[in-house]
This record gives sequence, C-alpha cells and structure tokens, in this order.
Amino acid sequence: MAKPVILTVDDEPQVLNAIERDLRQHYRGEYRIVKAGSGADALEAVQGLKRRNDPLALLVADQRMPGMTGTEFLSEAMKLYPEARKVLLTAYADTEAAIESINTIGLDHYLRKPYQPQEVLDVLDDLLGEWKNLVELPYEGIRVAGTLWSPSSHAVKDFLARNRIPYQWLDIETNPDARELVESTEHGGHRLPVVFFPDGEALVEPDHRALAEKVGLQTEAKEAFYDLIIVGGGPAGLGAAVYGASEGLSTAMIERHSTGGQAGTSSRIENYLGFPKGLTGADLASRADTQARRLGAEIITAIDVKKVRLDGDYRIVECSGEMELTCRALLIATGVTVKELDVPGVAELAGRGVYYGASLTEAAYYKDQHVYVVGGANSAGQGAMFFSRYASQVTILVRGASMGATMSQYLIDQIDDTENIEVKTHSTVEQVGGDEKLEWISVKNHETNEMETFPAAALFIFIGAQPHTDLVEGVVERNSAGFILTGPELLKGNGGRGKWPLRRDPFLLETSVPGIFAAGDVRHGAVRRVASAVGEGAIAISFVHQYLKTV
Ligand SMILES: Cc1cc2nc3c(=O)[nH]c(=O)nc-3n(C[C@H](O)[C@H](O)[C@H](O)COP(=O)(O)OP(=O)(O)OC[C@H]3O[C@@H](n4cnc5c(N)ncnc54)[C@H](O)[C@@H]3O)c2cc1C
Repeated sequence: MAKPVILTVDDEPQVLNAIERDLRQHYRGEYRIVKAGSGADALEAVQGLKRRNDPLALLVADQRMPGMTGTEFLSEAMKLYPEARKVLLTAYADTEAAIESINTIGLDHYLRKPYQPQEVLDVLDDLLGEWKNLVELPYEGIRVAGTLWSPSSHAVKDFLARNRIPYQWLDIETNPDARELVESTEHGGHRLPVVFFPDGEALVEPDHRALAEKVGLQTEAKEAFYDLIIVGGGPAGLGAAVYGASEGLSTAMIERHSTGGQAGTSSRIENYLGFPKGLTGADLASRADTQARRLGAEIITAIDVKKVRLDGDYRIVECSGEMELTCRALLIATGVTVKELDVPGVAELAGRGVYYGASLTEAAYYKDQHVYVVGGANSAGQGAMFFSRYASQVTILVRGASMGATMSQYLIDQIDDTENIEVKTHSTVEQVGGDEKLEWISVKNHETNEMETFPAAALFIFIGAQPHTDLVEGVVERNSAGFILTGPELLKGNGGRGKWPLRRDPFLLETSVPGIFAAGDVRHGAVRRVASAVGEGAIAISFVHQYLKTV
C-alpha cells in the first residue's frame, strides 16, 4: 500500500527545506513527505496523487505566496481530498485571514511563523490521529468481506470502526477476488461477513466477543474484586474511569460494545470545551480511552452486564460469558439508545439502507446519492452535515414546524448555508420499502395531509432515547420511562424521606441503593450532553470516596 502523504508548500526555500527535514525525521517510514515551492506546483502534486489514488493525510501551506495564497491552495486541494487535515503557516499580520479560513475552508489549525518545530509536530500528530480515525485506509491488516446490504456485515464493521480497529472492506458483490476469497473459506460464503486476519485465520460471522478477543481488546477482568466498577464506557463512564483510577481506586469499566458510547458515533462534536474547531466522537473516545488506561483503569470490552445484585455492602455484577465481579461501589453509566422508528419496512431494512444514528462507517457508500435524515435535534443536524460531504442531496424530515426548538443555532446556520441539504418540516416517514435494500420512503406532510413517495438510497434515524436500565430492574428506583432516580429525587414523598433507606441524605448521584451511583444520560433529569456526562462521571468519584468512608 502507498504510504499516506504529507504535502508541504512554501515559497521560501529555507523554510520549506526546514519543514521537510523536521517532518522526515519525525514521521520516518510512516508518511511520505512531498514538498512544493508554490501553490500551483502543490496543486499539481495533489492532482497527481489523486490520479494514482494515493492517500493524502495532511497539507501544510504557507499563507503568503505569490500567485496563489495558502488559503486559496487549500480550498482547491480540499475539493480532491476533503478528509485531509489542513494547516496554515501565517505571519502575525495574517491571523485574521487564518481565523476566517477556519470558517470558510474548515482550516484545522494555523501556526505563526517563526514556528517551534516541536509545537508544529505536536499539532500535526494530533491532526494525523484524527485523520486516521476518519479515513478507511487500504490496510494490510484485517479485511472484512461481505455485502453492503447484510446487517451482520454492518454490525462487524461498526464494531471494528467504533473500537478504532482499522480494516479493509471487501464487497463481494463488486469485487470478484473477494468473492473468491470468501468462497474458499469453510462456509463458502453462506454466512457473512468473513473476517480475515493477518495471521491467516478467518472468522465467519463472528460475535463481538470473538472479534474483540482476536483483535486484542481486553475481554476478561484481571481481578475478581474492585473498589469501583463502572458499567458503560460512554463519556460518563470514561470520565469516572479517569478520575477513579487517578484518585487511587482500583477501577474496572465494563463496556458491551465500544468506548465512546453515543458520543463515539458523532461525526463532529463542536461544543466540548477545549476543542475550538470541534472533534469527532471517535477521536474523543480514543483520547479518553487511552487516558483512562494510562491512569490505571481496566477497560473490559464486548462484555454485557446482565444483572446487578447486592450482598451486604458488596455490589455484584453478573456479566455475559458467566463472568461475575464484585465491588465496593458501583457506577451505572449505561446511557441510552435511540428510539426505534416503528413504521412498516424499517425493521426489515435496518442495516440495509436504514440506520440508527450517524452511521459513519456507511456514509461514504452513499456518495452522490440522495439520503434522508429523520429528526430535528443536534444529532440529526450533525449527521446531515456529515452526509452532505458525500451524498448528492440530504433531506432532513422534521415533524415540527421548525428545528429551532430542538437544534442549536450554530447547526441550523450551517445547514442553511449548505447547498445540498434541504429541510422538510411537518413531515414524518410513514413507510419504507425495497427488495434487497432501501429503495423508497413514503412521507406524510401533516399540514397538507398529502402522502408522497420518494426514491431514497439511505435513511438515517435520530428520534429520541430509551435508557439501558434492565440490569438494575428491581434493584434501584427508576421513573416510569426507566431512567434512574438519584440524589434529591429519592427524597420526594414519605415525609421527605421517599424510598431512601438511610438516616443520611443520598449523595447527589447516588441511587436508592447506597453505594450504587448513576451518571450521564441514564439518569432521570440528565442534561444529555457530552460535557455534562463527563462532568457527572467525574464528580461521582467524589461521592464514591465519601460513601466509602461510611462503610
Ligand atoms: C449522533 C449523536 C451526536 C451527539 N452529539 C453531541 C454533541 O455534539 N454535543 C453534546 O454535548 N452531546 C452530543 N450527543 C449526546 C451525547 O453523546 C450523550 O449525551 C453522551 O454520549 C451521554 O454519555 P453517557 O456516558 O451517559 O451514555 P452513552 O454515551 O449512551 O454511553 C453508554 C455506554 O454504556 C454501554 N452499555 C449500555 N448498557 C450496558 C450494559 N448492560 N453493559 C455494558 N455496557 C453497557 C453502551 O454500549 C454505551 O457505550 C450526541 C449523541 C448522538 C447519538
């Protein structure tokens, strides 16, 4: 496979050579460094890369160049390589231009000259990490062979992608070599997908655990007993894992799918503190996962916690695979799942053109096609923005009269400014259909009562949430919708003591069972944002410490 390219352009030969030298030394065999002395030469180089289908990871351009400015060059280059990360080198006086470029061309970073090599390399490392999370590189590693329309192929790809495991996708319908490869395996293509590993082993339609074990994720706990067990590896669980482990608690986090939770599926989180140009959910998850492990938390993946039970002051979690773990304090951070759209055809076509959430792994397959998004909240808006980079047309279907009540204004503005996104208000999907895959959707306009059918390549659904609390059913108090009650909520009724069993008041995030805490979206009254989930996970640890002093 051709090495991904870093292209740098500057009209001052001395600066250009210095950057090239620094990049070569730092990235050695990992990236190919290409340099150009003008915007025009750089553009020609980019066109050449595109013709050869070589991956381009990063563009570093000087702003002040005769003929074509850095911004002009980047804006042309991104037409060919929209995923490539873009950095501008500016003089002090160009700061305005650079800030404007953040909005106009999605500039990822600008650096002022004279630059400090280490500062530049730190920034570039970060950006290249993001790029790797975003692109599907042809990779001499794991290969997944299946059909685009098979739900189990989608599930395997989604699991690998959300666990940040690179793989190559082989569609056996369009790739005769891949079909041959699949037919040569034991089940001869009757069951899909087939996952091929570099060591020669192939797994046919593997479950998450088998896949996790094979790719080297931790699926077994190292101990039987922990100070703190966290169930759920979304932002709340990760926040708690970082603080729990860093504050000396032996901490295990159990996640049934992939760390990052819902946030991990987001194409761009723009409102998380400290990331002025936003970051992808995959990037956030990968950073937090690494941080939690570095601080000593155990992260056990592809294991489902089925049930929680009590034994005196001990809290016991019963997991899939007959694993049972005990702890002194337990944090439930299991979040929510988007609600299912209950209209004819959706269940049958799920994974075959109909997807819940922003299915980043599939978006690229809908290049130049018309896709639909259902929902009016931020997640739907972000999804639509993401798909608009690939699809020829994105239509957002919103039940209400506008998106103003449910979507942040910055997203509404971005959608308004995006030519290939249209919004249909007062509209609901009534039926979907297709033979092998989604082909059409019927939409009702509630103002006119008219029903229309449109050809549709894909339908992405974002319509509300259901909490994951079956594991504590009958153990902790929940509201009628299943969300967990915590802190002051438990004291309502019964003369101000509600169903709370102790003389002391419950800690803020404590459930009706002392020593069991809840954080994030799973909690009744949660704000349902990344930052609040992370914050709740973190402050839960302070309550865990206080609780442990009482037992
Ligand atoms: C597409 C999308 C985009 C979004 N964009 C933004 C945004 O831009 N800004 C923002 O602030 N918020 C955003 N949100 C909301 C934000 O992602 C959530 O509020 C946040 O992820 C909640 O975190 P959490 O940890 O409470 O739960 P979750 O993220 O739901 O994580 C819960 C985790 O628990 C695991 N789990 C569940 N049950 C079990 C079990 N029994 N055993 C083991 N593991 C289990 C799940 O697999 C999951 O990984 C977005 C949400 C979506 C869906």
